[in-house]
Amino acid sequence: MMDAQTCLKKLEYVGVLNFATVDRYGKPQIRNISAIHYEQQSMYFFTARGKAFCEELLSDGNVQILGYTKYKEMIRLSAKAEKVPEHEQGKWIDTIFAEQPYLSNVYPGSTREIGIVFCIRNAEIEYFNLGVNPIFREKYAIGNAGITEKGYYISQDCIGCGKCQSNCPQRCIVSGRPYEIKQEHCLHCGNCYEKCPVGAVKKL
Ligand code: SF4
Ligand code: SF4
Repeated sequence: MMDAQTCLKKLEYVGVLNFATVDRYGKPQIRNISAIHYEQQSMYFFTARGKAFCEELLSDGNVQILGYTKYKEMIRLSAKAEKVPEHEQGKWIDTIFAEQPYLSNVYPGSTREIGIVFCIRNAEIEYFNLGVNPIFREKYAIGNAGITEKGYYISQDCIGCGKCQSNCPQRCIVSGRPYEIKQEHCLHCGNCYEKCPVGAVKKL
C-alpha cells in the first residue's frame, strides 16, 4: 500500500534528489540536493541566495523533484516551492545543518547565513514501480495540489478486435465493451494507441 507519506519517506532514504527548474533562458536545469529536512507531509531544503537555482525558485516556485530507489521505484514531485518566512529561516537552516553535518564544512560558522530555505507543501506525487510484475503506478497529492491524468484510455469507438490487448507489454488491457486499460499497470508506452485499427485508443 503506497501513499504520499510513504513516498516522502522513501525519498528520505534515497537521500540525494534531483531538482529541476527552468532558467531565465527557458532551458532546463537540474541539480542534486541532499540538504533536505522531511516532515510527514512536507519537505524543507537549503540552497544559497546567490545561486541561479534560488533565482529560478523565487521567480515562480515551479520545481520537479525526482528520486529513484534501488528497488526500481521512481518517485517524482511536481511542486511549488515557497520561501520559508524570514523569521523561520534560521530555525530551518539550523535543523537542516544538524541533520546533514557535511553542510558545516561547506558553509562554516556564520557563512550559513547566505542560505535560504524553501518549503514544499503542495505537490503532485507520481509513484512508478518498475520492479514488480505487472509494473505499478499511482498518483497522490500533498497540500492543495491537484492530480493530472496522463496516459491513454479506450473510447466507445472500440470494436473489440483485441489487437491492443495482444500488443500490450504489461497485459494491462481487459476485454469488454469497450476494452479497458488498467491504469495502475500501464507504462504509457503508446503501443495500444499505435496498433488500434479504428483509433479508439485516445490520449488523456
Ligand atoms: S500504453 Fe502500453 S502499457 Fe499502457 S495499455 Fe497501452 S500498450 Fe499497454
Ligand atoms: S485495438 Fe482498438 S478496437 Fe481493438 S480492442 Fe483495442 S481499443 Fe478496441
